[in-house]
Amino acid sequence: MQRADLHTHTTFSDGTLTPAEVVAHARELGLAAVGITDHDAIDGVAEALEAGERLGVTVVPGVEVNTDVPGSEVHMLGYFIDIDSSTLREALKGLREGRLRRAEQIVTKLRGVGVPVELERVLAIADGVGAVGRPHIARAIVEAGFAADISDAFDRYLSPGRPAHVPRPRFTPEEAIVAIREGGGAPVLAHPASAGRDECLRDWMRLGLVGIEADHTSHRPDEVLHYYRIARELGLIATAGSDFHGSPGTGAPLGERTCGLEVIDRLREAAERIRAGLAAAP
Ligand code: AMP
Ligand code: FE
Ligand code: FE
Ligand code: ZN
Repeated sequence: MQRADLHTHTTFSDGTLTPAEVVAHARELGLAAVGITDHDAIDGVAEALEAGERLGVTVVPGVEVNTDVPGSEVHMLGYFIDIDSSTLREALKGLREGRLRRAEQIVTKLRGVGVPVELERVLAIADGVGAVGRPHIARAIVEAGFAADISDAFDRYLSPGRPAHVPRPRFTPEEAIVAIREGGGAPVLAHPASAGRDECLRDWMRLGLVGIEADHTSHRPDEVLHYYRIARELGLIATAGSDFHGSPGTGAPLGERTCGLEVIDRLREAAERIRAGLAAAP
């Protein structure tokens, strides 16, 4: 059966494989399609599309925007975004600049607690191109010998309540839905179980949410069933993805959670309708 993994990260955010490498890995695993959903960045999509064409893997252009709500993590995926949209590019650029300023603040705080991590090293690990994030800083901390591994670095320094935690400027979920639609993309709520905001789904649908990631690596089997059921009840597109971040030790393997290819058709149709709406707007 032809399967798609619609949630992956590359070196353009906090993944460890380049977009072309993610696509090549998808092909190795026999996946028919892969979604590229970097945090706050769409610059890796072009390379992935090119690799997909070469290797015969369907690449779904995407993005993942982390938003701010009290007490949980609400992440919005956007599929079939227009990678040339200047409104979306500007919005994402603002978020990435916020990430850079925040990385500077975290490094300063780390130095304050005796962890001598250099901003230059963090940016080198982030590869200079994409969205610099706490995972890159965590790798620098491990490299400097101040944590055993990435998750230890979060527990010691980077998680909320720890000495070097700095929040970053974020969209609200509502702003992310609007920004994704303005960029011609179809908004889908990522890993709804960790978002824990089922009661908001109808409001978000009124703003233009079209799907939920019913199957995600972090979802237990009963949660997967729950979200497939909710998607059916509300008429939302149910997507699936591994949240692959690259080499072993950085999360789930590629293809850990997948959906059928008809999901991609529905996402493409939704994005086409959204774009037709944009074109018709005054
Ligand atoms: P940021 O967007 O810079 O705040 O970083 C968020 C990313 O950090 C998430 O997408 C995860 O990939 C990673 N992350 C968050 N918490 C942890 C943790 N406790 N251990 C390992 N990685 C984490
Ligand atoms: Fe990540
Ligand atoms: Fe996420
Ligand atoms: Zn993700």
